[in-house]
Order: sequence, then structure tokens, then C-alpha cells
Amino acid sequence: MATTAQSVWNNCLNFIEDNIQPQAYKTWFEPIIAVKLQENALSIQVPSKFFYEWLEEHYVKILKVALTKELGETAKLVYIIKMENTYGNKQPFTEKIPSSNRSPVKSQEVDIPLNNKSPELKNPFVIPGIRNVKIESQLNPNYSFENFLEGDSNRLARSAGLAVAAKPGGTSFNPLLIFGGVGLGKTHLAHAIGVDIKDKYPEKTVLYISAEKFTQQYIDSVKKNNRNDFIHFYQIIDVLIIDDVQFLSGKSGTQDVFFHIFNHLHQNGKQVVLTSDKAPVDMQDIEQRLLSRFKWGLSAELQHPDFETRVSILKNKLYRDGVEMPDDIVDYVAKHIKTNVRELEGAIISLIAQSSFNRKEITIDLAKQIVEKFVKNTKREVSIDYIQKVVSDYFQMDVDTLQSKTRKRHIVQARQLAMFFAKKMTKASLASIGSQIGKRDHATVLHACKTVDNLSSTDKQFRKYVEDISKKLSV
Ligand code: ADP
Ligand code: MG
Repeated sequence: MATTAQSVWNNCLNFIEDNIQPQAYKTWFEPIIAVKLQENALSIQVPSKFFYEWLEEHYVKILKVALTKELGETAKLVYIIKMENTYGNKQPFTEKIPSSNRSPVKSQEVDIPLNNKSPELKNPFVIPGIRNVKIESQLNPNYSFENFLEGDSNRLARSAGLAVAAKPGGTSFNPLLIFGGVGLGKTHLAHAIGVDIKDKYPEKTVLYISAEKFTQQYIDSVKKNNRNDFIHFYQIIDVLIIDDVQFLSGKSGTQDVFFHIFNHLHQNGKQVVLTSDKAPVDMQDIEQRLLSRFKWGLSAELQHPDFETRVSILKNKLYRDGVEMPDDIVDYVAKHIKTNVRELEGAIISLIAQSSFNRKEITIDLAKQIVEKFVKNTKREVSIDYIQKVVSDYFQMDVDTLQSKTRKRHIVQARQLAMFFAKKMTKASLASIGSQIGKRDHATVLHACKTVDNLSSTDKQFRKYVEDISKKLSV
């Protein structure tokens, strides 16, 4: 059989697969494509510069052994780095590039002689010719500064964001923590900073990630035994944007790893941007040392937009969608939806949809109907705190008692009811419900939900509790 790039590489892979962890093999070797074999040099295509660095740092020895076995002492390995797009939905970590994206166009070659032991090769910054190789930023280009309208409610946060974008890592706003209630623009502003930096400094590696996804990746990395790969990946980012850090509450393992990544980035003058639904002082179950880091930079609040800002947000949205709407209707919507920009936009979208699908004219009456629906719907979105309060009131105890460790039957039942309603009425995960209701784990919450289900079908008195509380919660 003729020796081809493919056959040589397959033999190398067989050897490597036998000698490293299956997960590592899957992550770092399966995505590689053998491209060509010329004389004794095998060219392989890797998905990114980071990928190449990782191989060089961790697997150069085994690559060398494998290739020498196939091609002899004069074997050489050439990496071809595939350029990546900036936008996309790919997971930034341990994700394979789909084969349709694997065309070697727009690639840059790095020639690495395997028997050259020069340590410089491990330093990514001294390899000539590699530039503009990007990690997927996970940014939404629509969430730009341009589309983020300024008002008194957001002026500080917006200006701080602009300052950070102009000089990432070079201002005292590091980290920049943007906090504020639901739907007030935290995610939008966080993206805008990233989008602007990418625009001004295309060579910078920017990464947006939700704290939830970050946590998930971390948990996976622990399961797959590649926690270090996870940490290294995050340590090479220039601008790290983590959304909704309140999600890290109670997750001490993730907080710990984030603390290390944060320190590394901060010490190296890299920019960190965080968002949270609470001010640092109000964050619960976040370790003190991490909280104190959050306070190093600037915490900027997004407040409820005032009427003028709400009107301009609506008008901007209509303008961008190419829709015209009478001023009095815009004013009406802006006047009645006050606390959440997402709902403001939602109401205007419904209004447009109603009028165009049903060919109804947009009137104040129609606006009234829709706004009412919105306002009602939002009332139904209850918080776990509220549920605990309602349940404790119902049983005439205070929330601390409900959360306490006691095994007294009526208190246990109250706690289980609170967990049951939290599961039913909020989008929170079992784990997050548990951590908010007396620091229990997800299994306890699951057990509570089952118990409530069982008891309400077997115990009349208990069913009455469920019905009563249900009523109280749904007004
Ligand atoms: P949060 O992350 O705080 O819950 P988002 O960033 O998701 O809120 O914002 C909700 C919606 O409101 C998004 O569609 C966003 O574009 C819009 N929005 C919020 N603030 C503004 C603003 N100042 N100008 C324009 N749109 C805004
Ligand atoms: Mg958000």
C-alpha cells in the first residue's frame, strides 16, 4: 500500500490513542486532519492557534515518537492552522470544528522541525507569521453600543463600558462589574464592550460566556479529568466577559477555579467584564476573596430607565425594524411598562405582530390590551424569595425557620412545599433552588418535589396546603 499522509497519520493516531487518555485523544487528536506528506514532512491541519500551542506544550513528545516510528529520524511535522471566524455558536472549549468548516483555505503554515528542541517554540509569541487566529468570541453583533441607547439610568455603566472598550485592561475599571435587575441591558452592554473591542483590536482574543455555561464546562472538565486544559484555555483570553456571575453562588469549586483564572488575567493586564443581578454587597454564597476581587474595579449599576429613555429605546427599535407607529401609542407603552426593557420590547413586538397578522390598526385600545397582558404575565413570574415568604407566612413561621436544619415535621413540610413551588413556578435549576432554600443539594429538592406530589394525592389536608399556597402565589 502506498504511503500517504492519511496512512502515516492513521498509524500515528493508533499509537497515540493507545498511550493517552481517551478524552484527551478525542479532544486534541480527532479534530486533526492529515493534509499532505512531502518528503519526510507530514502536514496536519489543526483548528486554531491555541490548539497548536496546546499540542506543542503537551503532546510534542508523543507526536515525535509516533512520527519517527513511521518516517524515521528525519521526520518533520508541519502544522497548518485553520483560521476561525469570530462569530458563531461553537463551544469555545473541547469542541470539534465540523468537517464542512475544515477547508484549509485561509490557513497559515507553521513549520516545526520535531528534532529542534529550542524552548522558544513553546512560546506562542515568537512564532513568526501567526496572527489573527481567533477563538470564537461568542458575541452577538446586534448588541452594539450603537444600539444601546443612553439615558440617566445607564450613563455610568455605558461610559465605563466605552472606556474599557477603548483601552481593555488599561483602565482602573478592571474588573468592570455591571449589575442591575432583569431585562435592564446587562447582557447587551457586556456584548457591546466585546463587539467594540473586537472592532478596535481584531487581534485580541475576546470571549463572552455565561456563568452557567462556564460552570458546566468546568464540571465537564472535572469529569473528564482535564481541569488543567480548562484553566489554560481561559488563561489565554485577553478580554473575558462573564455574564450573570450570581449564578456562581454556592458553587465553591467553580468559584475557586474562576478565582485562579481571574488572578492570572488580572496580573497580566487582561480585561475582565462581569455582570450580575445584584451589587457585590448583596451577593450571597460567593466567597469573600472573590467578592473582594469584584470590588477592585468598578461596579456600575443599570437602573430602571426613565420615561424618555424608554421612549427612545422603543423608537430606535421601531426604526431598526422599519416600522412606523404613532407617537401616542409609543408613549402609552413606555408609560405603562417601566421596569424591564425586555418587556418593553416584547410589548412593541406583539403590537406589531397583532396589527400585521390580524390586519388590525394599531390603536390605543389594542396597545392597552397588549400592555395589560404583559403586565399580568410578569406578575406571575415569581421569585424563590417570594415563594419562601408566602409559604412561611402561610404556616406562620419566619423564613429562617423554614430554611433551618430542623427535622420537625411541619417545618420540613413547609420547606418541601417551598421547593416544590420554586420548581413549578421558576426556571431555576434543582441545584439553585436547593442552594436558595436552606443550602440543600439538588437531590433534596428532587425528593421534596416527589414527596409533595405523593402527599397531595394521598393526604387531604396536605392537598389543601398546596391549593391554598397555589392561590396565594398566582395573584
Ligand atoms: P439583562 O441581561 O439585564 O437581563 P438584556 O441585556 O438581555 O438584559 O436586555 C434585554 C433587552 O433590552 C435586550 O433586547 C436589549 O437589547 C434591550 N435593551 C436593554 N437596555 C437597552 C438600551 N439602553 N438600549 C436599547 N436596548 C436595550
Ligand atoms: Mg442577561
